Amino acid sequence: NAKKASKSSVQFYSQALKDASQRIIELENALQTAITNHEFELFLQPMLDLTSGTILKAEALLRWNRLDGERIGPDEFIPIAEQTGLIVPIGKWVISRACEMISTLNHRGHSCKLSVNLSPRQISDRHLLEFIRGSIQNSHIQPDQLELELTEGVLVDNYDKVQYLLTEVRKLGVSVSIDDFGTGYSSLSYLKKLPIDHIKIDRSFVQDLVSDENDKAIILAIIAMAHSLKLNVIAEGVETELQRNFLQLNHCNLAQGYLFSRPLPFAQFCDYLNTTVSNQKRIGPSALDPE
Ligand code: C2E
Ligand code: MG
Ligand code: MG
Ligand code: MG
Repeated sequence: NAKKASKSSVQFYSQALKDASQRIIELENALQTAITNHEFELFLQPMLDLTSGTILKAEALLRWNRLDGERIGPDEFIPIAEQTGLIVPIGKWVISRACEMISTLNHRGHSCKLSVNLSPRQISDRHLLEFIRGSIQNSHIQPDQLELELTEGVLVDNYDKVQYLLTEVRKLGVSVSIDDFGTGYSSLSYLKKLPIDHIKIDRSFVQDLVSDENDKAIILAIIAMAHSLKLNVIAEGVETELQRNFLQLNHCNLAQGYLFSRPLPFAQFCDYLNTTVSNQKRIGPSALDPE
């Protein structure tokens, strides 16, 4: 009986493995044609400037809507795109789409910056820099409206390539954020060597910040260190007013999270900007004008 049970659990696991690898193969195939089928969409998640209370920037986050209606999150398909190298063309699509969106926003009177995520494979692409330059030119945007987000792991594993890339993008006027800061296994020496503009504190530190004294201490230390290196600090995953108040009180520069907005499709993001701008006007001095 024991023999029978163990045989069936082996069968169970091998079936699960088979299913998982079949799923990966299926997604790999489907990813090949996803760009030409227009299956990708860029969502935008606003970042709030904690000093002025305005939205000056948003993060571009990729969404995959398959033809059969299935929606797949980046946590599932980005690793597959990375392994197969498909992230290179997909990442180019993201950059050019983000530049188009910035241009459309400019035409509608919003000067908003957008940041895009870069993964390791893209850093090794010799054409990346030229592509970024071309996308900025084609869309007639200001180079400083585009930002790049890289994780600590990407920086450290490809140090020489990253140093070259960041130096060159900085010359263009594009700025750079370190994403998920504090979760990567790395030394801090790159912070003084690389041309970096912003640090994004990982959501895991923000989550329990109100109740966890260690998270509080880590966040305060990151803010102090960043400011003395003349870097801006952005907190990710802000979900509550208590978190926001703590961050604001302690001079964190920007905040991003569900408290303000989830990542939004472009049209809804424009609506969001319009309503927040009109709110800002409403609470501005003109609202007090007794006409
Ligand atoms: P990330 O760059 O750290 O992006 C932030 C993630 O946190 C997003 O998940 C966002 O939806 C989520 N988030 C934002 N605010 C909150 C909050 O208040 N609470 C919680 N629980 N989550 C929040 P998303 O969109 O699923 O993206 C996951 C990851 O996929 C991203 O993490 C990024 O590493 C990667 N990714 C997304 N788009 C791209 C892309 O275009 N290119 C590359 N290479 N990677 C991408
Ligand atoms: Mg990011
Ligand atoms: Mg992040
Ligand atoms: Mg993350």
